[in-house]
Amino acid sequence: MKHIAILGSTGSIGTQALNVIRRHRDLFCAEVLCAGSNADLLIEQAREFEPNAVAIADESRYACVRDALRDSDTKVYAGSDAIVSLMEMGSIDMVLAAIVGVAGLRPTLHAIEHGKAIALANKETMVVAGAIVTEAARRHRVPILPVDSEHSAIFQCLVGETSPVDKILLTASGGPFRGKKREELANVTLAQALHHPNWNMGRKVTIDSATLMNKGLEVIEARWLFGVDAKDIVVHVHPQSIVHSMVQFADGSVKAQLGIPSMETPIQYAFSFPERIESFLPRLDLFSQHTLSFERPDTDTFRCLSLAYKAIEEGGNMPCAMNAANEVAVQEFIDGSIGFLDIADRVERAMQDTPFMAAPTIDDLLATNKTIRQQ
Ligand code: NDP
Repeated sequence: MKHIAILGSTGSIGTQALNVIRRHRDLFCAEVLCAGSNADLLIEQAREFEPNAVAIADESRYACVRDALRDSDTKVYAGSDAIVSLMEMGSIDMVLAAIVGVAGLRPTLHAIEHGKAIALANKETMVVAGAIVTEAARRHRVPILPVDSEHSAIFQCLVGETSPVDKILLTASGGPFRGKKREELANVTLAQALHHPNWNMGRKVTIDSATLMNKGLEVIEARWLFGVDAKDIVVHVHPQSIVHSMVQFADGSVKAQLGIPSMETPIQYAFSFPERIESFLPRLDLFSQHTLSFERPDTDTFRCLSLAYKAIEEGGNMPCAMNAANEVAVQEFIDGSIGFLDIADRVERAMQDTPFMAAPTIDDLLATNKTIRQQ
């Protein structure tokens, strides 16, 4: 039985992870559940999965959760520091990092420092502090198993390989605005941006998919997870989202991992690795899939992707600055205070204005993140 702590249990990834646990109760249990502010769903999850402990970041929701779970054995905590401390619990075997944004960094790093295996969905953790996180994982001999479908695909292509990677071919759906030009994007609405053709995800990652910043974040995540230079990570727009990514080796051979677009598959694989266990999802039927196509991304229109390559090339605190500006700009777009094209402009300006640090500590990165948000 693997005892799993879920950071972000009330989100899109968190709820799908609980679907996996629900179907495999003989293999997995939810040891700890952590949420941001959705007390009602956290209470419902705690009643169903009976975890050892739950925590809610929003302290004003503590009394509500505590009172609702008074008659259960589940311990209740509140606040970001409590979430971080919970990662020390001896009974946790694996932590699913599925908080959205840089808020996921501290608990994930703390879990690594306490020897917990990580199933990583929260890509912002790697973008902001990839050097520090991968070094901590190496030092504590902690595996980081990717949950992002593309990174899970790359990981699956690499299982059993000992030769170096030549190139990573990272696939991208292209999002809802694939094929559109800049002038057509000036007045797109939030509803249009949230209408992803293939994936049903949280709001922030859906907007990131529409700007292609999501792919930029994934390039940086792949650079750290697999130790491949960003110049050797080539984005392929693949609108069908069936090929989840590919790896090319020195002999020119390319390995790919295919599947239906469902996050439950990579979540389950991260939980069960190195085993593959039964899935109850529909099977991929290639006979009904008439076309698998691939295009180059349009980085003149979707500038966030080029900005991400620039950030990882400059290194240091630049990816952190880029990520912070993007998180703020996406929220502003969701709130309706800026337009879709302003997101890339804001990110670019923040990167230009940020004093460069070549080898930042975690405190330097958190300071960069805070400064950009205040600005
Ligand atoms: P959601 O917005 O659906 O969920 C985010 C989760 O994080 C919620 O449980 C939320 O709690 C919690 N949360 C937010 N802020 C805090 C905080 N300060 N402290 C503690 N918990 C917090 O996001 P997704 O599930 O879509 O994405 C999660 C991560 O996984 C992101 O990094 C995303 O890029 C990545 N990812 C997502 C994919 C997907 O298909 N959804 C695919 C690949 C990667 P609450 O709702 O209670 O406030």
